[in-house]
Amino acid sequence: NDLASLMDVSVNQVISTCMSLGMFVSINQRLDAEAITIIADEFDYEIEFTKSDEEENFVEEVDNPEDLVTRAPIVTIMGHVDHGKTSLLDYIRRAKVTDDEAGGITQHIGAYDVMTNTGEKIAFLDTPGHEAFTAMRARGAKITDVAIIVVAADDDIMPQTKEAINHAQVAGVPMIFAINKIDKPNANPNKIKEQLANMNLLVEEWGGKYQSQDISAKVGTGIEELLEKVLLEAEVLELTANPNKNAVGTVVEASLDKGRGYVTTVMVQAGTLRVGDVMLAGQHYGKVKAMFDHKGKKLKEAPPSTPVQVLGLSGAPQAGDTFKVYDSEREAREIANSREQILREQSLRTKKHITLDEIGRRLAIGSFKELNIIIKGDVDGSVEALSDSLLKLSKDEVSVNIIHKGVGQISESDVLLASASDAIIIGFQVRPSPNAKKIAEQEEIEIRHYSIIYDAINQIKDAIEGMLEPEF
Ligand code: GDP
Repeated sequence: NDLASLMDVSVNQVISTCMSLGMFVSINQRLDAEAITIIADEFDYEIEFTKSDEEENFVEEVDNPEDLVTRAPIVTIMGHVDHGKTSLLDYIRRAKVTDDEAGGITQHIGAYDVMTNTGEKIAFLDTPGHEAFTAMRARGAKITDVAIIVVAADDDIMPQTKEAINHAQVAGVPMIFAINKIDKPNANPNKIKEQLANMNLLVEEWGGKYQSQDISAKVGTGIEELLEKVLLEAEVLELTANPNKNAVGTVVEASLDKGRGYVTTVMVQAGTLRVGDVMLAGQHYGKVKAMFDHKGKKLKEAPPSTPVQVLGLSGAPQAGDTFKVYDSEREAREIANSREQILREQSLRTKKHITLDEIGRRLAIGSFKELNIIIKGDVDGSVEALSDSLLKLSKDEVSVNIIHKGVGQISESDVLLASASDAIIIGFQVRPSPNAKKIAEQEEIEIRHYSIIYDAINQIKDAIEGMLEPEF
């Protein structure tokens, strides 16, 4: 939908183009950079990607190699529905919470970290499925180091398994296959490995390069081995970060809690986040009042690869927004304000309204079915006459709707109505109030002035018929 409006074509056209390219998409689906480029090309647009200042956060000062220390891998679990993603996440979370830890009541905060038997940490993103993964990537967030692809051994490689594999491959994230439900009598892990091999994904035990582990998320078989394989993969990746600087990372989840205010789960990716830090996430900022882990335990500081729940932001940022710690509250506030302004301007800019000149083009691309008009005039007689004549211009292809008419100056509320219903305004012998004029300019609402009824009728008629042509 966003892409269609930026290119000024109908959503249906974009969707059907995607289909012809083998992508089945819905109206609100996020597309990755590659898909956007290909689709835009079909409409003769060239895409130029710019870095948002959020991404700039990550164009960090290059760290001195001696400042870098090893950090824990961050893992996302993906796979087909019902293959056991949630069960696996739950099993790992439960198995790894030791009794002596405070509270002991684990909560879903969007991410958690565990200590393996060897004393090494692994952080998990707690939203199973590739939707969250893709949504975050679409926002420029690069948060996953390793993807675990869960496949049920009593089933087959399914469409969503393929999608998950695809997403991991496109993102360049290494995969480990977790072949699940091996406790079931009808489990056949070899069949899954064969199906993977047929997709050119040969597992290690068959001489390939992909790690795989037979597991049961229900009884716990193979989970420890799976975690070891994650650590092995992490070792190859040589994951490091500098803990001795202002924290940067990614928002995983955010919500408003009645008692505690805005609660934001973030993944620290570099630096160390501390209570009292001034942090900016998306267009929201604030001083970190308190931090908790997924067991509800209070934390004073969070080094790289630590997921934490943060209290103190001024609002709820979106999952995938990056966050950064600033030295001064003023700096954070200024950036927050300018981001908010940019967002406002963007939303205004994409809200294109109809004009008479635009009608022809919109019809040509098949996205125009109704012309909404607001009529204001100096006397009731001419308003009615104009309205009757314009209504008669309706055709099968385009209907003319008079959504509001009245006597008097064109007011602010007329303009707002036009904006809300994508209408043009016709002023017959009347002008807009200064305020209405200002808003019309801001909202790009077309106001047409006429003093002869026939001029008005002919122009609108031409516009509608102009678009109905050419007929072959
Ligand atoms: P998700 O949709 O991928 O998150 O799948 P779930 O974790 O919700 O699991 C789907 C169903 O499979 C649930 O009824 C689980 O109890 C069951 N399940 C998951 N893992 C296993 C397993 O290892 N063995 C058995 N027997 N059942 C499992």
